[in-house]
Amino acid sequence: MALPGARARSWAAAARMAQRRRHAQGAGESPSLAPRSQRAALYVHWPYCEKRCCYCNFNKYIPRGVEEAAMRSCLVTEAQTLLRLSGVRRVESVFFGGGTPSLASPRTVAAVLEAVAQATCLPADSEVTLEVNPTSAPGSRLAAFGAAGVNRLSIGLQSLDDTELRLLGRTHSASNALRTLAEARHLFPGRVSVDLMLGLPAQQVGPWLGQLRELLRHCDDHISLYQLSLERGTTLFTQVQQNALPAPDPEIAAEMYQEGRAVLREAGFRQYEVSNFARNGALSTHNWTYWQCGQYLGVGPGAHGRFMPQGAGGYIREARIQTLEPDNWMKEVMLCGHGTRKRVPLGELELLEEVLAMGLRTDVGITHQHWQQFEPQLTLWDVFGASTEVKVLREQGFLLLDHRGLRCSWEGLAVLDSLLLILLPQLQEAWQQRTPSPVPGG
Ligand code: SF4
Repeated sequence: MALPGARARSWAAAARMAQRRRHAQGAGESPSLAPRSQRAALYVHWPYCEKRCCYCNFNKYIPRGVEEAAMRSCLVTEAQTLLRLSGVRRVESVFFGGGTPSLASPRTVAAVLEAVAQATCLPADSEVTLEVNPTSAPGSRLAAFGAAGVNRLSIGLQSLDDTELRLLGRTHSASNALRTLAEARHLFPGRVSVDLMLGLPAQQVGPWLGQLRELLRHCDDHISLYQLSLERGTTLFTQVQQNALPAPDPEIAAEMYQEGRAVLREAGFRQYEVSNFARNGALSTHNWTYWQCGQYLGVGPGAHGRFMPQGAGGYIREARIQTLEPDNWMKEVMLCGHGTRKRVPLGELELLEEVLAMGLRTDVGITHQHWQQFEPQLTLWDVFGASTEVKVLREQGFLLLDHRGLRCSWEGLAVLDSLLLILLPQLQEAWQQRTPSPVPGG
């Protein structure tokens, strides 16, 4: 079993290497001052799972065997290629998601981190998160991930009710989940998040709140609440279609969400995003990058990224999607150094729409300074200040527009999708008026 000291040495070694590389290149400028175009978060997708959960439509595969050495080599190669293409000089966080990345070996995680630290600056205190499935992560394995450089865990607990876990097709029981949570907290104190689902078929508000309160007795400083989304093609969708299960009731789910966030607030958690709650400052910096529309690189089969390729002066950023199927993706990486399947240039208006939709998911919303980084001419006041619809939303207490910027109130955060139906057209209209002859794609 790897010891915590080994983790410190390994991570410090990677950080020292990055430091030496910066000196060797004569980077000069302090990395923390690197411009936005040279900073990014990195997402790494591990596409394999033990078993298909009944509600899941993610890009995952249930393999007979995994050629892990080949997968490791391809993840490393693609990370190196995308870092080079993006010109990113500082990676601020790394997130291993899936699939079930806790099925990967710690050696694979270490290899990717080493490669990133060698190719760019990966500060020693960067957030490195691993998604964990309780059945694939006994304590010894979690310690080995720590030794590999992981310093934050996100546990897919989903429910504390064994009947619900079976309904979801999860491989773990409530007691498995609580044991993993306890081991994780012991190894990564203050750095463990848990996911809890709501809105399951036949689930009722009272018992679900009981689960949440039970979880509060065991959890660390970060909780994510996710509403079940019935996705076509999943077992659960078919069961509901065939009336084998009742359809989830959206009003009950909305009540769970409202009551749940109130319980978490009472317990000292800050709802810093629509689905995410933290106390003691334990916010996820990786996800924060998404909500702030920072750049991110997506490595692995089906991973998504958003960054500005070096030398692409014609547009500001592009969305990239990697090839979905792992074997095809590996072939492409071996041939071209990356498995990018699709590149979509993002126009200025599209980027602003993302800044609006993502920023309003957070409790701080969009500050004037933040908006200005993306749009120096058209202010938030210009776009929303004179709008009658926005005035109504402000008067109804859903939205605030003031010296800090634009943000949702506590009530507004719960109905963000409806607010965006009003706000996005306002932005589009203001943009059209600002640029009478828009450039295609702009
Ligand atoms: S473990 Fe996660 S990714 Fe894998 S099937 Fe279940 S929900 Fe989907």
